[in-house]
Amino acid sequence: MRLVLASNNQKKVVELRALLAGLGVDVVSQRELGISEAEEPHLTFIENALAKARHAAAASGCAAIADDSGLCVDALGGAPGVISAHFAPLVAATADREAQRQAQDAANNALLLQRLDGVADRRAHFVSTLVAVRRADDPQPLVATGRWQGEILNRARGVQGFGYDPLMHIPALGHTVAELDAAQKNAHSHRAQAMAQLLPLLRDVWLL
Ligand code: IMP
Repeated sequence: MRLVLASNNQKKVVELRALLAGLGVDVVSQRELGISEAEEPHLTFIENALAKARHAAAASGCAAIADDSGLCVDALGGAPGVISAHFAPLVAATADREAQRQAQDAANNALLLQRLDGVADRRAHFVSTLVAVRRADDPQPLVATGRWQGEILNRARGVQGFGYDPLMHIPALGHTVAELDAAQKNAHSHRAQAMAQLLPLLRDVWLL
């Protein structure tokens, strides 16, 4: 069976691939299939994840899994939330999509630090909602959500990962997420927690 990962974020795809490694299915990213990024116009993670999964399934004719994720900061009323990927104004488009994504991440992090300047309550969590569909019009999508609690530092630490990882400190681990290697992040992350719920569903409902 072929499973399409409905994301063009290469870092996210690497994480999802590792989390799906034990499943024994042919995992391919939508980018490898030349599928464009879906629109994410909705107010909730679950609606956006469903839109992405349906888009990839429709374009590929295969089953698809999408992650819609973000950072929710308590003192900001849950912002940036579903707009985490483009919290700051969009940076200029370049042919190198990964460089563009890194520039956007840097702008997002700078804006987050600015918004939290002088704010004592630094509590935040990452959230990941995973949606799996067997086909574009699947009436029974599989859904799972994971949350990872932490606190936003005053300055970046670490060089691994992506997005807000350098600012997100996990007190229980004593490190920012960007100070964790890929295996450590995938042992604890919001995405890993969501996948730990999704894998049994894929096995029991889809019989994988
Ligand atoms: P999405 O591609 O619309 O789901 O947007 C996800 C955005 O949320 C990313 O671009 C990051 O800004 C943020 N985000 C989600 N997961 C993570 C993570 O694991 N580390 C850091 N930032 C994340």
